[in-house]
Amino acid sequence: MASSKSKGARKNDSQDTNLETTEEDKSELCPGFKDVDAFVKYGLGAVLSSTKASAALPQAGDEYDFYRSFPGFQDFCESQGDKLLLCMSQIMRHHGCRSHIRDQSKLTGQEERFDLIVDSNDVILERVGILLDEADGVNRSQQPVMPAGFQPPKIVVSSWNRKGSGSGSGSDMFRLLQAKNVARPQLKFKEKVDNSNTPFIPKIFIKPNALKSLPSYFSKKQERKERAEDLDVPAALADLIHQQRTQEPVDDMFAHPYQYELDHLTVPDELLSKPDPQLYKPIEETKCSFVNTVEDLVALNEKLCKLTEFAVDLEHHSYRSFLGITSLMQISTRDEDFIIDTLELRSEMYILNEAFTDPQIVKVFHGADSDMEWLQRDFGVYVVRLFDTHQASRALNLARHSLDHLLTHFCNVSSDKRFQLADWRIRPLPEEMVQYARTDTHYLLYMYDCMRGQLLDLSHGQPGLLQSVWNKSKDISLKRYMKPIYTEESYLELQRRQKRTFNTQQLTAFRLLFAWRDKLARQEDESTGYALPTHMMIKISEELPKEPQGIIACCHPVPPLVRQQVNELHLLVQQARETPLLKAEIAAQKKKGLTPIRKPEVTLFGPHDTSRVSVSDLSFSLEDLPEKQGLLFSDDEIKTDMDMDMDVDADKTGGLVAAAKITLFEELDPRQEPESLPVAQMKARRIIESFENPFRMYLPCTDVHVNKTSKFDPSSKIFEISKRWKLLSIEQQQQELEAKKKSKAAAKEQSKKAAEERKKVKLSYQESLQNVATVRQQAAESAKGGTKKRERAASEAEGSTPKPSKKLMKSAEKSEAPPTETFKPFDYSQSDLKVFAGTKSKDNTQFDPNRQDRDFKKKKHPKGQKSNFGPGGRSMSYLAGKSERGFRHNWPKR
Ligand code: AMP
Ligand code: MN
Ligand code: ZN
Repeated sequence: MASSKSKGARKNDSQDTNLETTEEDKSELCPGFKDVDAFVKYGLGAVLSSTKASAALPQAGDEYDFYRSFPGFQDFCESQGDKLLLCMSQIMRHHGCRSHIRDQSKLTGQEERFDLIVDSNDVILERVGILLDEADGVNRSQQPVMPAGFQPPKIVVSSWNRKGSGSGSGSDMFRLLQAKNVARPQLKFKEKVDNSNTPFIPKIFIKPNALKSLPSYFSKKQERKERAEDLDVPAALADLIHQQRTQEPVDDMFAHPYQYELDHLTVPDELLSKPDPQLYKPIEETKCSFVNTVEDLVALNEKLCKLTEFAVDLEHHSYRSFLGITSLMQISTRDEDFIIDTLELRSEMYILNEAFTDPQIVKVFHGADSDMEWLQRDFGVYVVRLFDTHQASRALNLARHSLDHLLTHFCNVSSDKRFQLADWRIRPLPEEMVQYARTDTHYLLYMYDCMRGQLLDLSHGQPGLLQSVWNKSKDISLKRYMKPIYTEESYLELQRRQKRTFNTQQLTAFRLLFAWRDKLARQEDESTGYALPTHMMIKISEELPKEPQGIIACCHPVPPLVRQQVNELHLLVQQARETPLLKAEIAAQKKKGLTPIRKPEVTLFGPHDTSRVSVSDLSFSLEDLPEKQGLLFSDDEIKTDMDMDMDVDADKTGGLVAAAKITLFEELDPRQEPESLPVAQMKARRIIESFENPFRMYLPCTDVHVNKTSKFDPSSKIFEISKRWKLLSIEQQQQELEAKKKSKAAAKEQSKKAAEERKKVKLSYQESLQNVATVRQQAAESAKGGTKKRERAASEAEGSTPKPSKKLMKSAEKSEAPPTETFKPFDYSQSDLKVFAGTKSKDNTQFDPNRQDRDFKKKKHPKGQKSNFGPGGRSMSYLAGKSERGFRHNWPKR
């Protein structure tokens, strides 16, 4: 709660700064265009007219050759063509692509030029995709822009960053912000970071300025460190175990160590009276000391203990650590500035508690919410007597409450907040960053004076308003650090904030990914955002890629831990895909014309199936197959004999052809439910099922559904097969009845006949195989009409795979893109789109921004794979490395 409040305040601050810059930005987005809309409108207009013009050019092969016989036309074409090539090569160079499109010596002709363009388009579209994703992700998660150079484009374009870039140190700044390969400070920490999923227990073990002494648990901490029995468990866990052993009261363990002192803190009169503002010393004339040794820290503490007030600020790093690391502390007295290397002195910072918890000494912070938590978490440092200038600014009802605004307002100093998000782990600290850090505290004491005066003025000399600021500040210092605790429900809170609707499978994926990244981030001591940014997690959950490659494709840039563990992630996604969908979800997806995401499907299909139906488009599952299907055309005569011996009964003809035939177009016998099978039978069944059964495509599955009309429609192939099999089954039954009565020998003869029959069927099956595709199509076609039946089947196969129709199968080929639109760059509905179609308006291979806008955005290919602008769009499953560049016909024809 408390931390979200502080984040809220911070957000407001940054919005404040954004406001200032958007005013400037608005004037010119780029020369001649006031905003993106204006630019896009102009751009689209230009594209439309050039498309129109190029469509109107004389076609090669007929008019073109005629026109070309005129030298004027020829010259014109050459010069215009040259201009176009120049323009294109410039664009290509701009994007860092090979750009020798005009170089005759390096090109053999159109082919190679075409390849160059395809390559460049890929690069450009890929980049567009990345930028859109990033913009999307940042907007959605409202997460701050991260430093450490992982997402440099964002740093460059951010408004807070652009501001003041004219100062001349711009290039330096980018170098600093992008600093990579910063050594992990964690490695040097004397006490290991405790990322365990246990509540935070205060680090304090000595309590200066105590009115109430520290519970014995804390004072014995040094002993605990030596307790050999607990060395192999995380510190917090060891503490909990120890607490259980010693039966110490738990409340004391988690309480704020200075709760009592803060509860009994009153504001002395001198802090409620009007001060004479004491102007700050010019920063250039102020001594600044860098503190990175224990001796210096002790000396500083001694100095501070003699003062009546000092100002404090912290810089923090949160990207490459699970809990975050306080990386710097700045302290300003009336005469001096101190920069403390808290990475170096992390374990000794508690020394400062003497000054920090002394109620006689005012500690001035600006926006201390986070600082209070960081001090406790990393150093066990607490603050008694806090004055928060952010709270004062609120009480004064100033226009904005950010530090830059206060600095401008009170000191006429324009601070440069560009470094706020720099990587504060960098050592040695660059001069620019030291300067920035200093400004954060240097002016605070003067502002503290001014604000107290104004607070008293505002309430006509009454101390009430000032008192309220002291109280609010005290509340902030009472905040306790809470470690992020993972629970089974944690993901729901994050999911709720995304304002996304997930179906059961997507939500399962989200939950599993959330758990994965939490665990990994704790283990590797990285932020969850580093392990797997939320927007990528959402994308993977929405797309549920069928292959590891698809997971990689959801991530731009691919987080190192995702790359490392892509197979683990893939298993999680698979697990999510196995989750049954709710009936309503299947219906909703059908309505939207999307292919519902299905269970992992059988990888087997008719061995002769040449249709381009991918594995995922086969929607029946093994469970749906009849029990004895593996025995079709069994040549096992002995077995048949045995069957002959048995009491033949319609249900027990399993070993015979008839068994499967009877159930072919009937509803499944509930007795054949896999759950009811003994283990051995289940095993046998699985083995049987692992063999390719050429009849699989004919077997009843709830997906390829045949409605009654088509079943009895003589024109349908299904009818033919059905009839043939039905006849056979009756025949078979008759034979079996006779077999009961007749002698064994006669039965043998019969069985021979049956074998012959089977051979016949086998033959006719082979014939019918040639028509596989048509049968399937017909089945699908008729399924389209049989909605009623399909619905019934859907409810029977509750939660199992939904039924494809031809239409659905087609859309499966397209892509499994989630229904939610994430990005709406421009409203194309206003435009005249017919021009795009050129003369062959029916050719759907042509680019249509309305139809493919999602794909346009998402066009990403693994290396070595080229764009295919066909109507199929992108599927998350990837074809093996082969280039699709050959599909020239996918490009709009002139
Ligand atoms: P400040 O008090 O402004 O110096 O900020 C202290 C630390 O808070 C910085 O070092 C950042 O790590 C973090 N921080 C400040 N502002 C933001 C922000 N808008 N987004 C994310 N982190 C921030
Ligand atoms: Mn701060
Ligand atoms: Zn700061």
